[in-house]
Amino acid sequence: MSALAKNYNRRKIAFKKGKGSFLFSTNGKKYLDFVQGIAVNSLGHSNIYLNKAINKQTKKVWHVSNAFIIPEGERLAKRLRKKTFADSVIFQNSGVEATEAAIKAARRYFYSIGKPQKNRILCIRNSFHGRTLAAIYASGSKKMTEGFGPKVPGFDHFDFADHQSLKKSITKNTAAIMCETAMGESGIKVIPTWCLKGLRKLCNEKKILLILDEVQCGVGRSGKFFAFEYAKIKPDIVPIAKGIGGGFPLGAVLMNKKVAKAMTPGSHGTTFGGNPLAMSVGNAVMDQIFKRGFLSNVQKSSKYFISELKKLQNDYPHIIKEIRGIGLLIGLQLHQNQDKFIKKLEKNGLLTMRAGENVVRILPPLNVKIGEISLAMKILRKVCGEFDYE
Ligand SMILES: *Cc1c(COP(=O)(O)O)cnc(C)c1O
Repeated sequence: MSALAKNYNRRKIAFKKGKGSFLFSTNGKKYLDFVQGIAVNSLGHSNIYLNKAINKQTKKVWHVSNAFIIPEGERLAKRLRKKTFADSVIFQNSGVEATEAAIKAARRYFYSIGKPQKNRILCIRNSFHGRTLAAIYASGSKKMTEGFGPKVPGFDHFDFADHQSLKKSITKNTAAIMCETAMGESGIKVIPTWCLKGLRKLCNEKKILLILDEVQCGVGRSGKFFAFEYAKIKPDIVPIAKGIGGGFPLGAVLMNKKVAKAMTPGSHGTTFGGNPLAMSVGNAVMDQIFKRGFLSNVQKSSKYFISELKKLQNDYPHIIKEIRGIGLLIGLQLHQNQDKFIKKLEKNGLLTMRAGENVVRILPPLNVKIGEISLAMKILRKVCGEFDYE
């Protein structure tokens, strides 16, 4: 019996090898992996370029403390500054550390301008910002907080798409609105461009900060480096993680100048975050994502995939309710529970992931080939042909 705790409902497969979009199980089966560690392996498994970068760094230096200058991190931060809204970056090890740092930065900003009472963070009910105590209460999900009280104070909630409740929930103590630009775990719900523009405007009017959690939808996943770029707006704080390490644990919080100013020496820190090994991988991922044509290719793959999925929905409207998504963060919403459907896909060699609202989440690597999308479509079509809910 496993000595691991039972906090995961694990599927009964283990893998011995991965290459690009494919995984090879210990019992000899080949799978098309459209989970990719939940949007983590942005360049697929065992990417040659990333392998070279990490191997090279292992021979130099793995880890030094943030008490010293880390040139690889200086370089990655400068590149993020050059390519995004951000003026400053703090590196972390994971998504939730990045969202926590985002919350801390927002509070610290108001503290630094003499308004420490502005410390409440307004979030979307049933969103996902990670699993620390603060983050589960930020997410406002009953299921995630069950048994973990007492409640961490400081978070308010409004319902997705409920503009009335959003406006009503802003008080004199609100420091920031925090939401995912495209909600991942809760069912691939993309905040439309006009709403993002409205959010920015609202935050400006109320003089509060806008935090856009791009841990899942960021770093090229949307077809732009950040999903909010489609709306041509600039948030104040953006946590990122999943895709930036290409499979190596790496997170970061990006901030504009006024917020970054509040993060004075000693205000925040991490032992592992931003170490040379992680930074070398992050830089290698950036090399690839900002190669000419890479992001436009993500958009092209997305367009093809989504148009094929819409045809499938057209042919099987009694199975598929809606196609959702942005870039290569795609959701297939079913009419009922999706677990059986996901299992059938897996039996036919396609790995996908569940999300909220009966959604089958599809997350290919960003460099997925058109032929691999076609293969996935063939499997999806076969499963739809044989499927009934019972
Ligand atoms: C995955 C995720 C997180 C948490 O990331 P971890 O690395 O699991 O801590 C936070 N926010 C969003 C939007 C995510 O998708």
